[in-house]
Amino acid sequence: MTDTMVTKIKLPSDQDASGRNLGAEEIAAVSEAILSGTLTSTKGRFVKTLEQRFAERLGVKHAFACASGSAAVHCAVAAIDPEPGDEIITTSITDMGALAPILYQGAIPVFADVDPQTCNLTAKSIEACISERTKAIVVTHLFGNPCEMDAIMRLSRERNIPVIEDCAQAFGATYEGKPVGTLGAIGTFSLQQGKHVTTGEGGLVVTNDDALARHMYLFINKAWGYGDPKPDHYFLALNYRMSELCGAVALAQLEKLDAVVRRRVELAADLDRRLQGIPGVSVPYVGPKSVHTYWKYCIRADKSVVPEGVGGVARLLREYDIFTVPRYIEKPAFMCEVFQKQRTFGKSRFPFTLARPEAIDYRPERLPGTLEALDGILVIPWNDRFSEADVRFIADAIRNSVETLRGDA
Ligand SMILES: *Cc1c(COP(=O)(O)O)cnc(C)c1O
Repeated sequence: MTDTMVTKIKLPSDQDASGRNLGAEEIAAVSEAILSGTLTSTKGRFVKTLEQRFAERLGVKHAFACASGSAAVHCAVAAIDPEPGDEIITTSITDMGALAPILYQGAIPVFADVDPQTCNLTAKSIEACISERTKAIVVTHLFGNPCEMDAIMRLSRERNIPVIEDCAQAFGATYEGKPVGTLGAIGTFSLQQGKHVTTGEGGLVVTNDDALARHMYLFINKAWGYGDPKPDHYFLALNYRMSELCGAVALAQLEKLDAVVRRRVELAADLDRRLQGIPGVSVPYVGPKSVHTYWKYCIRADKSVVPEGVGGVARLLREYDIFTVPRYIEKPAFMCEVFQKQRTFGKSRFPFTLARPEAIDYRPERLPGTLEALDGILVIPWNDRFSEADVRFIADAIRNSVETLRGDA
């Protein structure tokens, strides 16, 4: 295929204005925040209003804003309050921001396998990892596609282990009609640049549990008991607050979230239809109880049908200036040096030094589903500002690329 044959379209990108919904509303809100002269959330009203609105939107008792999605997961893990060496079962196909907080709280991430079709944890894979030291389960609704939460919550109740839902990629997603983030004990969200809605950096946590809420609120605020009769720093905690500037942007972004989600779902349905019948290519699997809200749109390519698999498709798509990511993350998170070399605090290797050997068995062959999942996926950038023509362009490019690889073009 020569370059001249390829018509290119510049797709909107979530890294700049072309693919973000940042405009007059955000500017007005930030101006108001600046002119108020109060930029800390401890005294201002933007972050407080954001927390109220986000709680209302999800139908939960408590929501708190914080500095990032990583901070949100840290708050959640801290609220569970594991003893050093306790175990938290999670996935290795996620952002490091969902894993580092576990180590910072002195707990051990234990990696359960995923369903290769969805790249999500399952109740069965989680159950296989439960030990006497399991303190919590962190599930990630990857790419915006909810995990099978009925089975996971049944397991959680039976074994009395709380579930933290990492919804950084899953704004607006639902399971059995309920928003993700409200099914487990705690839900966490990220407002980082590339998420559904953004403040550049930012995060949110939600819960219906008063005690967990209190702990998370304190954890965001150096554990200082604001408003208490005799406040003190009650335990070890950092300043994880969101500033009023971000709070103002977040409030304006929240107003746009429903439209963002609706459009992403609509466009994904269109791409689903257009990719039907391409040999060896499968579209995202969405369970009957789930609404997937497409942070990214992932296809799978069967190597036995599409020579070179997703790597080959990605290479050919680059000729169209469509920049996809085969494997999503190059390697499962436990293959990173922080786990393989146990690089944590000085030379101590804490908390790995406290772990059961089976809990820190970070060999890839233990997780065949994870390896298969990463081997077969191709992450296609997704954006609510795509037009129908953009989606047609992506679909045609995928079809042509697969045909070229199959040699029947
Ligand atoms: C983005 C992301 C995070 C971390 O959020 P930050 O705001 O970047 O700290 C955590 N978990 C998942 C699944 C993410 O996609």
